[in-house]
Amino acid sequence: MADDLRLYFLECGSLKTQVQYIKMNQGLGDPYEIPVPFFLITHPRGNVLFDGGNALEVARDARAHWGVVVDAYEPVMSEDDFVVNQLQRLDIDPASVRYVVQSHLHLDHSGAIGHFPNAEYVVQRRELEYAYTPDWFQKTAYIRPDFDKDVRWLFLDGPNDDGYDLFGDGTIKTLFTPGHAPGHTSLVVTLEGEGPMMLTADACYTMDHYEEKALPGLIHSAADVAYSVRKIHREVDRLGATVVTGHDPDAWPKFKKAPEYYS
Ligand SMILES: [Zn+2]
Repeated sequence: MADDLRLYFLECGSLKTQVQYIKMNQGLGDPYEIPVPFFLITHPRGNVLFDGGNALEVARDARAHWGVVVDAYEPVMSEDDFVVNQLQRLDIDPASVRYVVQSHLHLDHSGAIGHFPNAEYVVQRRELEYAYTPDWFQKTAYIRPDFDKDVRWLFLDGPNDDGYDLFGDGTIKTLFTPGHAPGHTSLVVTLEGEGPMMLTADACYTMDHYEEKALPGLIHSAADVAYSVRKIHREVDRLGATVVTGHDPDAWPKFKKAPEYYS
């Protein structure tokens, strides 16, 4: 295990979908395949995951685990893509993971929950509440067996708990970015060499979303999405950060992937 600060980009397969499910009201019926990213950060005081891709069950029988939503988002995933198996190939022991930060609890982000015995699971309290009681139009995006687990949650409490500094040293900080989901959180990782990296997660699916040319096809509040994208811009400008979008088939291939890393 590395004892310096490193950021690894990982991918839990892809989703075969259509443009309108990613970019609202655009490209109706056009096929679109998007990566399912998650991230590992090694820190001197413990390893951190930012999301965990899909649950292992998805590799075995996606329709049994996800239900009808596979008609809109068809996962391409093998058991090797499961977060625990990918970390094993990097020699990362599940017991060494100290925090799992959840951007939100949608089905393609919640695969790590419950698999790291010493971890605290960092999530917006309102996101977990909403995951149990979603509106009808978000119901298929939350898979209760993924998050209804006896784990140690570390709750962030909405706008009043923004900018949570994981280790108190400024290297890993949350940014509250609701809209796509009500308790959505982005993450800023400040590396010694690369400088700040803004991991937007689904606050910006792609650079089109970052550039205010698209709303996500799946949304909780359009106004909050717009507000959060502006907020990310302000932080990116202030910090001089590199933007890493959440499901971007054009930008994602340009980044180094594990076992390579940024530091
Ligand atoms: Zn999502």
